[in-house]
Amino acid sequence: MAYVISDACVSCGSCEGQCPVSAISAGDSQYEIDASTCIDCGSCAGVCPTGAISQG
Ligand code: SF4
Repeated sequence: MAYVISDACVSCGSCEGQCPVSAISAGDSQYEIDASTCIDCGSCAGVCPTGAISQG
């Protein structure tokens, strides 16, 4: 189960550099996690200032 980014994302970009497998990228209106790339490590969740990242 991959992590997911909710609509609480404010597109600050803080999480992108935390992902060891580069699963996070900027989408049209917010950042997105590629579910097929995510290895479920949780590294990104703690850096989000709005708590938008959680286990899907
Ligand atoms: Fe990347 Fe880990 Fe976050 Fe998945 S849980 S998007 S692998 S940092």
